[in-house]
Amino acid sequence: MNAQVLPDASDELLLRLQRFHADYFPLHQQRFQDLVAQGQHPKTLFIGCSDSRLVPYLLTGTGPGELFIVRNVGALVPPYDGSHGLHGTMAGIEFAVLQLHVQRIIVCGHSHCGAIRTAYEGAPEEAKALQSWLKLADEALLPVRPSPEALLRTEQRSVVLQLERLMDYPMVRREVQAGRLTLHGWHYVIEEGEVHVFDVQRGDFVPASQSSHSGTGPFPPYVEHDGQIIAD
Ligand SMILES: [Zn+2]
Repeated sequence: MNAQVLPDASDELLLRLQRFHADYFPLHQQRFQDLVAQGQHPKTLFIGCSDSRLVPYLLTGTGPGELFIVRNVGALVPPYDGSHGLHGTMAGIEFAVLQLHVQRIIVCGHSHCGAIRTAYEGAPEEAKALQSWLKLADEALLPVRPSPEALLRTEQRSVVLQLERLMDYPMVRREVQAGRLTLHGWHYVIEEGEVHVFDVQRGDFVPASQSSHSGTGPFPPYVEHDGQIIAD
């Protein structure tokens, strides 16, 4: 006779896994099985900060199969330097563009970003990789004391900087220029519950509630949602 294995009631993670299987999965079983049978065809690559307060599925009202997500400290994009090193973010971008043929890339930073603050204040001495990584935000830093206003502006400047780096990826540039891929810069203001989208015409971030679009990449051609391509 097999002894019954009783779950450890203090193991919160185990309880959540069991709840997913017992409660959530049965309600969405068909969707998951379709995604297995037909494969995933997400239209969007979401490059976001790892911050626990940034929840891409909530912001975009999406579910399984809709977002291909790459997250890292600061929502940073490494430069396409041809080194082809062991770089997860770079590999994710290549996978999304060349194999999944996504139609949109979102770079999403956010308010109160610890990565941006650390870029000003310095990472712990032992965190060598973090020190190197945060150099990818250096160009966005302002020559001022990191006040709340300066931090917010830096978070936004960093989003635009990463979009510019994306355009150095040959496969990204090619698809954008062909009108098959659009880039979107987002800055999520946690305390307002609102994403501010980058608007290239205004050269600024606009609250989504007051915007006519979900963010324009800083690069032509700009493809509007009705498919119209607007030349530079
Ligand atoms: Zn962050």
